[in-house]
Amino acid sequence: MTVFVVSAPSGAGKTTLNRRLLKECPQLEMSISHTTRPPRKGEKEGDHYHFVSRAEFEAMVQNKAFIEWAEVHGNLYGTSIEELQRIEKAGKNPLLEIDVQGWRKARPLLRNAFSIFILPPSLKDLWHRLESRGSDNLSHRWLRFQNAMDEIKNAKDYDVFLVNRDLETAFGELKTLVLSDKPEHRAQQEGLLLCEKLNEEFKTADWIKGLKQQLGG
Ligand code: 5GP
Repeated sequence: MTVFVVSAPSGAGKTTLNRRLLKECPQLEMSISHTTRPPRKGEKEGDHYHFVSRAEFEAMVQNKAFIEWAEVHGNLYGTSIEELQRIEKAGKNPLLEIDVQGWRKARPLLRNAFSIFILPPSLKDLWHRLESRGSDNLSHRWLRFQNAMDEIKNAKDYDVFLVNRDLETAFGELKTLVLSDKPEHRAQQEGLLLCEKLNEEFKTADWIKGLKQQLGG
């Protein structure tokens, strides 16, 4: 069994890519996480997440039921050991959609994992993708943008950094990795350099300074 880990800042296209991947790769199965976040419209118990109370989640932490867990945007999220065992028993490879903190915790425990970090090609691109999500107002979008930058800043120790310049190419690369028996570890240099470049742009770009001013500091 290979555990595939996919992390990405929100707005990098992770959900779209993973959904398609699951459709086209029957040997892959989504690992359903536990979360204390309330269900969004259309989300079903056991389908998107196992929705639990904070007390239930904390009891699971005490019982060492999770391979990793993290707090994301004020809610708790975790991958249970039982879920990974269920997928393994079914003879499939789990796909974990977890954040950077989660991967940091799971990495020493998952020797058979292959990890992929999806990056946007530029900050403008990321900002526009968050913008096109419609209902968000400017301060919400800014918050998501800052969170995305936090993920990018801390993205280390991934086997592959995949840049989502266009969806078809990124999907093709992702599928090749998932379908290969022993996915190829690529040089991380290019991905890490892009992370650095995006971080630098976040600190110095005029359009970002303008946004900060607009948001009052
Ligand atoms: P959302 O609430 O939008 O479904 O997910 C928010 C974030 O939580 C995403 O970045 C997602 O990758 C992360 N996440 C979902 N499940 C888990 C999990 O089991 N563990 C960790 N560490 N992060 C998770």
